[in-house]
Amino acid sequence: MTVQNLPPELNHPFFKKVQKQFDSISGLISLDHNIRTRLRQPYRMFSVSIPIRLDNGQVRLFHGYRVHHNDTLGPCKGGTRFSPDVSVGEVSALAMLMTWKCALVGLPLGGSKGGVACDPYIRSRNELQRITRRYTSEIINFIGPEIDSPGPDMGTDEQVMAWMMDTYSRHKGGTVNSVVTGKPIAIGGSLCRRDATGMGVVFTIEEAASKLKLKLDKDCRVIVQGSGNVGGVAARILHSIGCKVVAMNDISGTIYNEKGLDVNDVLDYLQEHRTLANYSKGELINKETFFSLDCEVLILAATENQLTLDLAKKIKCRIIAEGANSPTTQDADDFLSKERPDIFIIPDILCNAGGVTVSYFEWVQGLQNFFWSEHEIREKLKQIMTKAFNEIYRTAQKKEFPMRTAALATGIEKVGSAMLLRGLFP
Ligand code: NAD
Repeated sequence: MTVQNLPPELNHPFFKKVQKQFDSISGLISLDHNIRTRLRQPYRMFSVSIPIRLDNGQVRLFHGYRVHHNDTLGPCKGGTRFSPDVSVGEVSALAMLMTWKCALVGLPLGGSKGGVACDPYIRSRNELQRITRRYTSEIINFIGPEIDSPGPDMGTDEQVMAWMMDTYSRHKGGTVNSVVTGKPIAIGGSLCRRDATGMGVVFTIEEAASKLKLKLDKDCRVIVQGSGNVGGVAARILHSIGCKVVAMNDISGTIYNEKGLDVNDVLDYLQEHRTLANYSKGELINKETFFSLDCEVLILAATENQLTLDLAKKIKCRIIAEGANSPTTQDADDFLSKERPDIFIIPDILCNAGGVTVSYFEWVQGLQNFFWSEHEIREKLKQIMTKAFNEIYRTAQKKEFPMRTAALATGIEKVGSAMLLRGLFP
């Protein structure tokens, strides 16, 4: 099979970064050449126009995307991002990471992602509802429980998932719960889905801490970049088990308190004011100071490419937990693996896999119309995350790979072997 030129939309720095990662790992594991060529890019990319009447009466055109990277292991699964920078290149990069992530934790699912280029924080509820419904109807033939079930991601929440589910169901003539995950519990959502990604982040931090013989107690200082669904929940759980969360951050700024922040108070404040900018029970610090803080655990839970080389040279933690997707730039990652082997990096596709795992539970529960208890979900999630962590840790030790290389190699190998078994259609 010859390597084709990539569609121009994929000439995006984030996509090129994950593709380069894939190229280097597939060389390392001697992945079959034809499989390598097929996996280097998504197999389906949709780009749709979303004309919406704004509250002021004007019509505005938004752009939406949905990308299926690979569905060899099962129907595609991936989040829906509402953010001004969303593009087909960004979504394609995230879809590729989803493929490796699902394979890595052993889910029978492929990888996808979608989104709309819009700023959800300045849109009214009615505008968001119209954007969501029109977007869903434009991609309706390419989603569904057996094709691709979207979930939430940055800028979307349970309400957006409820509107997607309702729009799909109205088109199909009956309620189809399993078309999306991350729905409210009252309409078929799963217990624990809201907290799942943050819970998974904490399970992996617990495993890493036990390898380092680091106690997660009052002497364990935690700093968190991004205080949304992932970072906020991880901070709350670590605070509840006794760790000292000394700094939290959102897009508007960073608050610091060396004695430890009252995380519940910070999150209540965020719930009410949507931003940390004027939170008064902590010192306001800048991004450089945040990354230079003395701490044991640094959680990256904002967005991609936040930990740059300059910042990586300043950090003083023992564990980096990548709750966000691809939060570390390539040169920062190269620097850390060469110069700072003392820092334990829990790579994104492992660290934040709790979200897709409970999304998988929600999909399964919806298909069988039989719902599990919180205890069952928590235990199943812990079992899957711990097993995946240790499988990757053993590979990393045995082959002397960094954790990220071991995680990517494990995911890519699983998908590659399944593709060889399925063969090539027609
Ligand atoms: P969210 O919208 O709930 O929260 C994002 C947080 O990051 C907010 O506090 C925001 O203010 C902050 N932020 C955004 N850009 C920032 C910047 N440049 N600098 C500092 N802070 C910034 O989003 P989320 O669902 O928590 O997702 C965060 C990350 O985790 C994303 O990379 C997402 O793809 C990834 N992720 C989310 C889930 C999930 O279930 N929500 C699952 C897996 C991965």
